[in-house]
Amino acid sequence: MSEPRWAPVDSAAVVTDSPHWVALLDFDGTISHQDVTDGLLRRFGRPGWQTIEQQWEEGLIGSRECMTRQIAMLDMTLPQFYDHLSSVTLDPSFTAFLDVVSARNIPVTILSDGLAQAIAFILQRHGISGLPIYANQIELQGESSWHLRTPYARPECGPASAHCKCSQLPSSRRRTLYVGDGASDFCVAGKADLVFAKGRLADYCKAQGIAHHPIHDFNDVVVHLAQVDVATVP
Ligand SMILES: [Mg+2]
Ligand SMILES: [Zn+2]
Repeated sequence: MSEPRWAPVDSAAVVTDSPHWVALLDFDGTISHQDVTDGLLRRFGRPGWQTIEQQWEEGLIGSRECMTRQIAMLDMTLPQFYDHLSSVTLDPSFTAFLDVVSARNIPVTILSDGLAQAIAFILQRHGISGLPIYANQIELQGESSWHLRTPYARPECGPASAHCKCSQLPSSRRRTLYVGDGASDFCVAGKADLVFAKGRLADYCKAQGIAHHPIHDFNDVVVHLAQVDVATVP
């Protein structure tokens, strides 16, 4: 397919029109099998990005500082960027999930601590379009250097995330279904009404006593939603 015109993703669309529920979804490791930023760093990162990753894993820095410094260490042309994105695969049951929530008029929004342009490209490549994407943005500078923008960072964010998902919950009239897998989902999972968790997020929810449904993939979410009327979830 032809490459899309290079432009920031329009994230202006706000979750609206559902009287009861919204679905908020993590992307990397939840909708996609691979973590996009990790993959880009492994292929195109200049030496030293692993040290920064280590500091993040030890809790010494938040994802905002971690990703800002790591994205600046990429040595990657635009064709290399798209080439890598073309290798990312999606949970095959994600489209079934989209069908289920669409049939229930539950709007879907992606909340990602990854890269908006990458998510839009990968989804489009898999025939999925029109989902609002809230995520960090990257800008190409020159031939092969990149800069991270974090329009959804918040100074008050406890974990100092690049994208402060904690502050992205919709207005109190709406209830939130959340699906995620990792550390970027910790703060929002404690505030959502119905949590589907895998990976580190499931471990975290269990340790913190946060009510959640452990899942392997979106098929587990589909099966669960077929059994319950979300309108009756307490
Ligand atoms: Mg994730
Ligand atoms: Zn936050």
